[in-house]
This record gives sequence, structure tokens and C-alpha cells, in this order.
Amino acid sequence: MTDGFKDKVALVTGGASGIGKAVSLKLAGAGARVVVSDLDLDGAKSVVGEIEAAGGEASAVRADVADPAAVAEMVRHAVSTFGGLDLAVNNAGIAGDNKPVAETSDEGWNKVIAVNLNSVFYCMKHQIPAMLERGGGAIVNVSSILGTNGFATASGYVAAKHGVVGLTKTAAIEYSAKGIRVNAVGPGFIKTPLIDDNLDAEAQEQLTGLHPIGRLGKPEEVAALVAFLLSDEASFITDRTISSMEPTPRSNAGVKEPVLVHDVICSSYQGETSHAQR
Ligand code: NAP
Repeated sequence: MTDGFKDKVALVTGGASGIGKAVSLKLAGAGARVVVSDLDLDGAKSVVGEIEAAGGEASAVRADVADPAAVAEMVRHAVSTFGGLDLAVNNAGIAGDNKPVAETSDEGWNKVIAVNLNSVFYCMKHQIPAMLERGGGAIVNVSSILGTNGFATASGYVAAKHGVVGLTKTAAIEYSAKGIRVNAVGPGFIKTPLIDDNLDAEAQEQLTGLHPIGRLGKPEEVAALVAFLLSDEASFITDRTISSMEPTPRSNAGVKEPVLVHDVICSSYQGETSHAQR
């Protein structure tokens, strides 16, 4: 176990499964005290058990991130359990309806926006004051490769993940000079229950073809990037969404030979819209 996050308190939403679980284990392995939050309390408790068995400290809490009152209570839980909040990973998310725009139900649209986008607003709204109390902190919001690209039959998901990128940029402009760095990650397709429960083997094979590395990603690979962005090693990185690859707008399932261009990672960039707000 390294101790890069010793004395830090971290909160991970959707921490019971997939990417959130890998992030929780990674941060705890580097010394953070981790609040593992999820709808699935038993799953969160199981991750806490793994952390404790490895000698770490963690606490499980049930919270529906689409419910603003539950999010406020979740942040209170972190502060009252471990004395404050330094790091947050707003990761909980769902896949949503797999239908074209005209066939997407209002309920399906509202749900995916609530869980994948509104949640990130609610989380940061309560996490930021807690971090300011400690003199600063770092937030990573989990967007997606679909936060910067369209994808057929995923309109609500794509809109929500684009929204997460915009929210991230805005919060970064507002709070970076006050000591809170805010970044997002935009993973490509990662082998987790979210993929396994929604896509059959053929669809997963097609998605594999979109990745220059020739396979789907692993949750641990996203966790490594998240941990880096939260760490002091990334002390001059804010306002960024770092994606693992960029497909062209039409390069989703069904396109045989998609063209791929790689992401450019900048450490800090004062864009046209980000003036005079610090
Ligand atoms: P996952 O394995 O399904 O884990 C998501 C976790 O979030 C589950 O434990 C789930 O609980 C929980 N959750 C769902 N709705 C929630 C809510 N309203 N409140 C609190 N927790 C809730 O999915 P994953 O693949 O790790 O995805 C994690 C994040 O990465 C998501 O934001 C997803 O959009 C993003 N992402 C994933 C991929 C990918 O290819 N896997 C790619 C890019 C981005 P239940 O199991 O009880 O529903």
C-alpha cells in the first residue's frame, strides 16, 4: 500500500460496482479514508469489507444520487464520519434507454438525466462547501467518451455526459483558484456490469473495434487515471476532461472501420468562456 492519499477523506458515488469499486479500492490502497456510496448498500458494504481486510479505513452509505436530499445527507455522513472531505469522485450512472430519439420515453429521458447529470450538480453543490472548509480539495466527475461524441440510441446518456463536461468546466473556473481542482474522465468502453448487462457479446465485439488498443478497458485502468487526477501529481491540472479515445461522430456499433484520433491532454487552459470569473 502506498500512502499518497494519507489523511485524505474521499467520497465515491456508485462505489459498489465497476469503475466506482475500482476507484474506492485504489484510493483506499493509497491511504485515503473512503466513503463508499451506492444505491446498493450491501455492495458498498462488501467493498468496505475488502478495504478493511487490506488494512484500510472506509464507510458505506446508501444514497440515491438523483435525490438532492439524499446527496446532502451522504456528504454530511462523510464529514461526520471522517471529519471532513478532501476528494470526491462523482461516478454513479446508468445506461438509459437504448432507443432512437423519437422513440425515447419522457420517463427514460428524465431518469438518465437525473441519475447521470443532475446528480453531479447535487454532489458538487454539497461537496464544494465541505472542501472549502478544509482549504481545498479535488473532484473528478465521471463523464464518458460519449460526453464529447454522439452515439445512436443513447440520446439521454449522451446529453447527460456532455452536461457533465460542461458542469466540470464551470465548477473548475469557479473554484480552482480557491483550491479545488475539478476535472472529468471520459472513459471509452469499460468491461463492467453496465456493459455486460446492456450489450450482448456481438455488440461488445463491435465496441472493441473502436478502441485503438484492441480491447475494452478495465475498471482499474480508469481508477488509475482518476487517482492521478485527484493526486498532488496533477496539481496544475483542472478544467479538463481526459478521454481514453475519441471515435468520429459516426463510429459507433455497425461501422466496420471507424477512424480514431487520440485525445490531447492539456494541464490547464483558459478558454474563451472562462475569463474573469476567479
Ligand atoms: P456499474 O458497474 O453499473 O456501476 C454503477 C454503480 O452505480 C452501481 O453500483 C449502481 O447501483 C450505482 N447506481 C446506479 N444508479 C444509482 C443512483 N441513482 N444512485 C446511486 N448509485 C447508483 O457501471 P460502471 O460501468 O462502473 O459505470 C460507472 C460510471 O462510469 C457511470 O457514470 C458510467 O456512465 C460511466 N462510464 C462507464 C463506461 C463503461 O463502458 N462501463 C464508459 C464510460 C463511462 P445498482 O447496481 O444498484 O444500479
